[in-house]
Amino acid sequence: MEGSYDVIVAGSGIAGSLAAATAARNGARVVLLDRNDYSQTGKKTNWGWVCGDAVAKSHTDFITEKIGLSFGEPEIDLKVDGVYALSPDLEHKFIFDGEGYTLNRPRLAKKLVDYAKKQGAEHITKFEVEGPIIEDNKVVGIFGRDEKHEQVKVRAPITIDTLGIASMLRRKLPQNEYIGKEVSTDDIESTGRYIMNVELDGEDLRYYDPKNALIHLNQVLAPGGYGWVFPKRNRRLNIGLGVEKKSLDIRNQKLNKKDTLHMLIDDYVKWNPLIKSWEVDPEDGNGKGYWSVTVRRQQDSLVFPGYMGAGDSMAMPNPISAGGIGPAMVSGILAGEVAADAVSEKKFGMENLWEYNIKYNDKYGNKTAGLEVFRIYLQSLNNDLINYGMAHFITEEEAVELSYGRVPELTIASTFNKLLSGISNINAFRNLLFCVSGMKKLNAHYKSYPKTPKEFGAWKEIVDKEMKDVKEKFKPNPV
Ligand SMILES: Cc1cc2nc3c(=O)[nH]c(=O)nc-3n(C[C@H](O)[C@H](O)[C@H](O)COP(=O)(O)OP(=O)(O)OC[C@H]3O[C@@H](n4cnc5c(N)ncnc54)[C@H](O)[C@@H]3O)c2cc1C
Repeated sequence: MEGSYDVIVAGSGIAGSLAAATAARNGARVVLLDRNDYSQTGKKTNWGWVCGDAVAKSHTDFITEKIGLSFGEPEIDLKVDGVYALSPDLEHKFIFDGEGYTLNRPRLAKKLVDYAKKQGAEHITKFEVEGPIIEDNKVVGIFGRDEKHEQVKVRAPITIDTLGIASMLRRKLPQNEYIGKEVSTDDIESTGRYIMNVELDGEDLRYYDPKNALIHLNQVLAPGGYGWVFPKRNRRLNIGLGVEKKSLDIRNQKLNKKDTLHMLIDDYVKWNPLIKSWEVDPEDGNGKGYWSVTVRRQQDSLVFPGYMGAGDSMAMPNPISAGGIGPAMVSGILAGEVAADAVSEKKFGMENLWEYNIKYNDKYGNKTAGLEVFRIYLQSLNNDLINYGMAHFITEEEAVELSYGRVPELTIASTFNKLLSGISNINAFRNLLFCVSGMKKLNAHYKSYPKTPKEFGAWKEIVDKEMKDVKEKFKPNPV
């Protein structure tokens, strides 16, 4: 398969189908490879299309604006007004994100891959990608196995890696200063969820809100992560939670328990007093599943010679919400655009692909390092401190600003005037000030993201140093 393609896109999930569609629409000859057969397009694992299914409207609008593709039924399951985060004692509730949708992921995946094919991308299914072909320290294609399990090589000047969190391409890159091959387990949430048909008993907007997505912060129920109840249509819910391994271990040890992710999810369902009875939704065999999601900033560079990455393969989910659908959409489109430009100019060097780093950073990536700092801080708080903090540390407007990665000028003086009580609360507040100052530094630093690969090393050193300081200061402390 040499010379047939300009761009290989590996993985036809959200990021991959959009990258392939955009590159093909802009004139590149694109092949889109995936291990699934067409009927299971976008399926992440044997467990299914495991996801909370929630996406902000601003992200689907971005697709419409860029490539003219709009969304409705059946891929949009339900419109929601916003996302609320509740304190562990359920006394405080902050809006966390605006208008959006819960999706039908299998239908969305089909729609995106069909669109990519319509733009001219060739979709090859039942193809297992096994690694990159490297020549002269450059990616020049991929190797893998086709549907007959025969070894196949596909070569092209650009490979876009959209294989998701466990990418075999990223992990087999040569050691390099641009893209980390592995992600630390401290930056990963183990997650799982049910899509359930449910019979609800009564009304209580703290546990289920038909118009809003709810996030429950609770370090006992979901150590180092959170639980969620997202409404879907026809008496269905997407309900699940994520945990961070160290936080779970500490929590279990302190409470003398041996709870696993699976047990915690079942406990979380039982904890919800409105859920009277439920059954796993049978549609697409997608009602119950577990998978991982990263909660760190995206890879500091998204390109390597001959190689670009988008979506989960580049650790793009939002560090606070773990929302990765939006970043996968944005990055898929931007990667496809830059790849097509490189093809039309016949310039495939690192300098040409670098434009993608700059575009992604401008559009989304410049706030994620700050959000990573905020996530590490949050994981250092127990339930009492979260309750107290949501009541006394910040206003609702400030919380919203923080959750969007914009650092508010905390009304520190006035907050101090509220007279915080208790030494651990005062320490936690001081730590919040440290956290906010780290967020500010990183946000400012990302504003000067390197314009060329040459400036990258010095820029990255500062990111690494700042992140190391934060990780040394804040340790998981769930209970
Ligand atoms: C439990 C859970 C809940 C979540 N909830 C939300 C949420 O509510 N909102 C949100 O925005 N995000 C959420 N996320 C994250 C979101 O699901 C991901 O960020 C998103 O799916 C990323 O899309 P992607 O295209 O990058 O990767 P993926 O969706 O993982 O797609 C990767 C594709 O590559 C294919 N592939 C992988 N390896 C190979 C191989 N070796 N050979 C061939 N093909 C391969 C797969 O078959 C798949 O089609 C959640 C994640 C989890 C696990």
